[in-house]
Amino acid sequence: MKIQTIFETKKPVLSFEIFPPKKEIALKNIDGILEELCSLQPDFISVTFGAGGSSVNNQTVEIAKKIKHQYHLEPLVHLTCLNYNKQEISGILEELKDSGIENILALRGDVNPDVEKKDDFHYASDLAAFVKMKGDFHISGACYPETHIEAGSAKVDILNLKKKTESGVDHLVSQLFFDNELFYDFCDRARAAGIDAPIEAGIMPVINKAQIEKMVSLCGASLPAKFSKMMQKYENNKEALFDAGIAYAIDQIVDLLAHDVAGIHLFTMNNPLVARRICEGIKTLR
Ligand code: FAD
Repeated sequence: MKIQTIFETKKPVLSFEIFPPKKEIALKNIDGILEELCSLQPDFISVTFGAGGSSVNNQTVEIAKKIKHQYHLEPLVHLTCLNYNKQEISGILEELKDSGIENILALRGDVNPDVEKKDDFHYASDLAAFVKMKGDFHISGACYPETHIEAGSAKVDILNLKKKTESGVDHLVSQLFFDNELFYDFCDRARAAGIDAPIEAGIMPVINKAQIEKMVSLCGASLPAKFSKMMQKYENNKEALFDAGIAYAIDQIVDLLAHDVAGIHLFTMNNPLVARRICEGIKTLR
């Protein structure tokens, strides 16, 4: 089923994000993780794609196939384009088609000085247009409530996002954020610019200190005082920080649902316990 159809028939949508494990040994554990995540019945599961040249990328497709054919849920395959040419992307699209996979999250990918940049695609919108031309896929795209870090301004970023939807992107998944007001403001600005695709809110439950430092340095998410206070209070108590991080994410989701958000995209970090605790916390609200 195409993800667009899910959004047309259901609100709010709940989706999970997972990543292919980095080590071969860990890949063997993916079935256990998938089994637990799928038992929570999300509407779809997205699988990340490493930056160009990474050997984990064929695992993205393998894991997506498992989600589709072994667990009977819809996979959303992330696909980056900066380090690939048209021929390489066409090869991946053919494999997806042959596997019955219909949903692609079209991404540019981060600039990596260690990996050769190719010239065929410059932006996610170039990839979206190419995917649309190549087959009957549903195409999702990324968006940034706090503005993409390379964008000259918030206004320019929204105009570029509009181009992305005009290139065939029918659903947007947001970068993680910890301050819902920033997300609501972003949605208002996107709507005012004429973007009417459903916007899913990306939620990352923060359950350890290293994770937050890494995420904030990578994506620049701002931390509300309430969040920083929580981190300070529990940073040296592993169990308490886990509980507090889950409670914070549930609080964010409850508020988002009260604001009629189209969907919640949970960055599960391949941790079924995190996903389970969140699902239990919102089970009567969906
Ligand atoms: P784009 O939409 O191309 O935007 C990139 C920048 O270019 C922005 O500043 C934008 O304003 C600007 N821009 C866009 N179009 C134009 C234009 N026509 N003219 C001028 N400027 C333009 N990365 C991975 O490597 N693998 C993953 O699996 C992955 N999954 C992600 C999932 C989500 C939900 C999110 C939010 C991000 C994910 N990323 C992933 C990270 C993503 O690849 C980076 O954030 C990357 O820097 C931008 O990708 P994009 O697709 O948003 O790029």
